[in-house]
Amino acid sequence: MNDILAALGQSCRPLIICDIDEVVMEFLDPFQAYLASIEYRLHPDSFKLTGNIRRIADNVCATKEECAKFQEAFFAVQDQWQKPARNARIVLDGFKDDADIVFLTAMPPRHEIVRRALLDLHEFHFPMIATEDAKGPVAARLIGERGVPAVFIDDIHTNLHSVRTHAPGCLLINLMANDVFRALAPDPGERVVKARDWDHAGALIRAHFKAHA
Ligand SMILES: [Mg+2]
Repeated sequence: MNDILAALGQSCRPLIICDIDEVVMEFLDPFQAYLASIEYRLHPDSFKLTGNIRRIADNVCATKEECAKFQEAFFAVQDQWQKPARNARIVLDGFKDDADIVFLTAMPPRHEIVRRALLDLHEFHFPMIATEDAKGPVAARLIGERGVPAVFIDDIHTNLHSVRTHAPGCLLINLMANDVFRALAPDPGERVVKARDWDHAGALIRAHFKAHA
């Protein structure tokens, strides 16, 4: 993270801080395919994983510990399953000459090497921070005191709210690749803008940068 902070410290360009799972890379579709390969299914009964994963053979619900184990196992082989979200790279590439782009993913850092390989395979050559810490304080450090316009994009409301608290001037965009679970998501709340897709997110980012140029 320190090298990313040092590079940003030299920059006066606008900043895009972007989540990965369900934002840049599909997570739920590939995770469902992975679960099917081990005879489990994720049922879209509500906006959560735990409690909605059941064994196909007998419909028995996976425990919280089992769900965590499935996610851990999936992250270890993510490069075999995950695909880019539609238009994510085209839209981000459209900003790369005029803005700094940093990925901020709530993934255990031990999976960083395989994730970096996955991102590079799909030509997302932007720096990445993998952390299990709250995203707000990290976003605030990335933005710093430089006074640049900043945007934070995530599918999970608690992450958006964390950044809302710690980086109050930042544009907050709620974006989620999976249509089924997006329809189940709670309202993201005050000051969070919902984007339909990456094209919509791109338009929101451009407007924010223009208004704060
Ligand atoms: Mg996510």
